[in-house]
Amino acid sequence: MAGLEIQRKVKYQEELDLEFPRQVAAMPGAADLNRCIQCGTCSATCPVSVYMDPTPRRLVAMTRAGFKEEVLQSSTIWLCASCYSCTVECPKGIKITDIMYALKRRAIEEGVYPRWLPIPVLAREFFRKVRQTGRSNEGQIATAMILKTNPLKLLRQIPLGLKLLWKGRMSLLTERMSGDREQLQDLLDYVDRQNHQAAPGTEA
Ligand code: SF4
Ligand code: SF4
Repeated sequence: MAGLEIQRKVKYQEELDLEFPRQVAAMPGAADLNRCIQCGTCSATCPVSVYMDPTPRRLVAMTRAGFKEEVLQSSTIWLCASCYSCTVECPKGIKITDIMYALKRRAIEEGVYPRWLPIPVLAREFFRKVRQTGRSNEGQIATAMILKTNPLKLLRQIPLGLKLLWKGRMSLLTERMSGDREQLQDLLDYVDRQNHQAAPGTEA
């Protein structure tokens, strides 16, 4: 798929980030990263690996080798459909889907995701909305995503948006959770702290 290939470049060891695999392995669900035997079952079973560059097998190898920049900027982690097929089939029991989530979180924290891909922007807007209100709001999240990635597309989406609003399938009004929002924020802050302990030096 045009535009999704990563830049391939030979790197010397001193250019690699050798702390990166340790930090990723310390994130929730990624502890077994180093057990990979590079069998390729994950790539073979992945329904979207044909569109990925690198494939899941290669992404695991690059993470372990410290190719931080290439891994975090790759489209692979955003194309992952979280179907868990690779996780079910991996002979070493590696939770590859969870590793994808760990890498997505790290890419968002470091702000190095591909800017032209709407998926990371959608994820970021979703987290922001849930943190602010305790609720997801599809209308506001989708509008923010389109404005930040392809504003002209908003014009084309107006008829569909009006139809959804008219049918009550979407709302632009802000809903807030009725309970103690501070408890939710404490919980999210705790998760953030856990992730930052695994990957020191990153911002929320
Ligand atoms: S299936 Fe598991 S062991 Fe095989 S390459 Fe993928 S992550 Fe590594
Ligand atoms: S969870 Fe993601 S990487 Fe694994 S098989 Fe499904 S789409 Fe592919």
